[in-house]
Amino acid sequence: MITEDTIRKALAKVNYPGFSRDIVSFGLIKKIVVDGADVRVDMSIATRDPAVPEEIYKNARVALDGVDGVGKIDLQIDVKEPPQPAEQQGGTAEKLGQSRLPGIKKVIAVASGKGGVGKSTVAANLAISLAQSGAAVGLCDCDLYGPSVALMFGSKAQPMADAENNIMAIEAHGIKLMSMGFLLGDDSPAIVRGPIATRYTQQFLRQVAWGELDYLILDLPPGTGDIQLTIVQTVAVDGAVIVTTPQEMALIDARKAMAMFQKVNVPITGIIENMCWFDSPSDGERYHIFGKGGGAAEAEKLGIPLLGQIPIDIDTRERGDRGEPVALASRDDNKISAAFHDIAEKVATAVA
Ligand code: ADP
Repeated sequence: MITEDTIRKALAKVNYPGFSRDIVSFGLIKKIVVDGADVRVDMSIATRDPAVPEEIYKNARVALDGVDGVGKIDLQIDVKEPPQPAEQQGGTAEKLGQSRLPGIKKVIAVASGKGGVGKSTVAANLAISLAQSGAAVGLCDCDLYGPSVALMFGSKAQPMADAENNIMAIEAHGIKLMSMGFLLGDDSPAIVRGPIATRYTQQFLRQVAWGELDYLILDLPPGTGDIQLTIVQTVAVDGAVIVTTPQEMALIDARKAMAMFQKVNVPITGIIENMCWFDSPSDGERYHIFGKGGGAAEAEKLGIPLLGQIPIDIDTRERGDRGEPVALASRDDNKISAAFHDIAEKVATAVA
């Protein structure tokens, strides 16, 4: 017997053209009506490219024809104009789907379930450690709502566009940088929501002229919403680094982030436990402010590498806020810098 579920499963085998994500999880299916053996499917697509609905129609037909005992198939696709990105640059917003960013060897996403766990701090220090090992590194701050790369690299530069209208990355501490924070005014992030935010992000990722890079680090927004999913679907990511603090509250969301990456087939490079403990300078004691070893235990339970543990460190915070991340300090003199350099070596080996 054919049910709505049979049809949905068949359609889930059809990918959005150029993406590894299927049309069902993309939310294209608006209605499925099954009447005996006859099936009606209504879809809605926002695109300016007529080839997209054509291809989806063709592939969905094939998928539905393959359903055992199916009768008459009525497939309707409603094609809408996508929302206009604020800075539309003559069709570039349509250049979606080619996953590899040209000239970039490895893309590493730094993610967290919660905000404030030190994800951007890790991303910045990872980028610097990789660059200090001689690699060409870019860091892309994908956080529309709370970009922090500009602050962490002490840069207020305004990016320029090149002759092809691509955004040129800013350079600081030997890293090529780009941030939504460089491009959007202070008040715009708050009003960018939903599909427009997704659109902005795709355009942003596609339009930065990075040049040749060994590593591009993506500082993802915290959480597992549409924007994160869009990013990992727009760019082929070689590995995801998950940052968490040790307590269960943060781990719950870190698990969700890991599940998201697993769902879209992005390999999880490992977990970094941040703010693990505080070595008090006044009494020499070690305090486990956010609990002890939650991230390490989670990594072991899931069989995911624990890439490192970073304590709460006042100097690390001060350096970050000053625009000089701690990994710039010599790894021989600074334990935290050494820990970040160790992490970078593990990450480089894992994605090699
Ligand atoms: P997220 O990107 O997860 O929101 P941030 O990297 O912006 O987190 O960090 C939030 C704040 O915590 C920043 O002020 C940062 O300097 C500080 N911080 C991050 N990691 C540490 C650490 N290990 N020790 C002390 N402060 C830290």
